[in-house]
Order: sequence, then structure tokens, then C-alpha cells
Amino acid sequence: MSPIGIFGGTFDPVHYGHLRPALEMQQDLNLSEVRFIPCRIPPHKTKPKASVEHRLAMLQLALEGLEGMCVDQRELQREGISYMVDTLTSLRQELGERPICLILGMDAFAGIHRWHRWRDLLRLAHLVVASRPGSEVPLRGVPGDLLQHFSTRQPRRLLEKPSGVVLLHPVTQLDISATQTRKLAAKSGDLRFLMPEKVRNYIEQHRLYLS
Ligand code: ATP
Repeated sequence: MSPIGIFGGTFDPVHYGHLRPALEMQQDLNLSEVRFIPCRIPPHKTKPKASVEHRLAMLQLALEGLEGMCVDQRELQREGISYMVDTLTSLRQELGERPICLILGMDAFAGIHRWHRWRDLLRLAHLVVASRPGSEVPLRGVPGDLLQHFSTRQPRRLLEKPSGVVLLHPVTQLDISATQTRKLAAKSGDLRFLMPEKVRNYIEQHRLYLS
């Protein structure tokens, strides 16, 4: 049973710093698919600037025609704060014993102890951590302990069980963030090459993020 990748985020908006690491994860780890799961209400951030409808539309445009990549709308359809543990619980019910790889950037992993019921995350899925410019590998605290006890650099270990492994995986380093793209959009700056053209056009057409 090939593993499935789950990539959660606010995607406000989606950019190449999401897309390229997801593609590399899919290819390097032989993930049969990567499901992008936009959150409705992020637990650790202020309210997204763009509406649910706009964030979803941009993500759908970005993934159009990409084989093995799709949007999963379960967090958008669920009321209340979008806790990943609830998302993984429902995925686990659907997927049985199939390995689930929760893809996250190094910055997100470094704050994993602040996630709701973080201990259950590893019971439900593997954590597959993408390197990210400006974020060091955490050596101390809960993330450091998780690395000490559960980490590997060998992707084949993801196939051995459905959950419970932490894999640090180097990806092409793209120093792009949604915050940066929103700031640029706010002053009608040039968004080319930070995201797919269709997403850039959508932002401009709908006058998103303008201050
Ligand atoms: P913001 O700037 O609004 O905080 P963001 O660019 O970090 O947003 P999110 O949608 O919050 O984007 O991130 C979703 C996931 O993608 C997180 O796990 C994050 O670590 C990861 N991620 C985002 N940008 C990058 C990047 N440039 N390289 C690697 N991982 C990234």
C-alpha cells in the first residue's frame, strides 16, 4: 500500500513554496497522491485575509492538471477551528492501515507541541518535514525529542507501518511565504514567479489583499 501525502495549510494564497516541496515529496517518497487540505479557521494564526471561497478557488487553479494532486475540502466543511488531529482521525477511518504522511514545513514542525493533541498526531500519521529557508532543525524541547526518538532519513521506513515515523526531507529551498505575497499584493506589486500565473491572475482579477 503506497503512502498518501496530506498537506495542510491556510494557502492564503498558495505559492511555489508550497507547490514545489509537495511535488518533490510526492516524487521522492512515491506518494500515490498528495491531498492539499485548506483549513477553515487556523488554530495558530490570525484569521485568513481571503475568504474560504477565494482560497479554495486559488488552490484548485494551482493544482489543475497536476496528476496525483488534489484538494480535500473536509476542513472547509467542518465548523469551528480546523484541528489537524480531527482531520487525521477522519482520514484514518477512511484509509485503514495505509501509511499517511503529514507534510509540513520545518517552521510548522518546530511548533508542533502547540498543536491541539499533538501526541495523537504521530499515532495517526507519519510526519514528513520539508526544509524551509530560515528554519533550523529543532534540537531541543518536544520537536527535538520527537526527532531523537522517531526520526529517520530513510523514506522506505514510511512503508513499514501506517504512522509513527518522523522523516526530515530536504527540498528545493524557496524563500517564499504567503505573508510576503500578501504584502506585495497589498501595494499592487509584481507577483510573477512566486505562484502559478492562474493564481496571480485570480488575485489581480478579484483585487485580493489590496490594502
Ligand atoms: P503565512 O506566511 O501566511 O504564515 P505560509 O507561507 O507559511 O503562510 P501556510 O499555508 O501557512 O503558508 O503553510 C502551509 C504549510 O506549508 C506549512 O507546513 C508551512 O511550513 C509550509 N510551507 C509554506 N511555505 C513554505 C516554503 N517556502 N518552504 C517549505 N515549506 C513551506
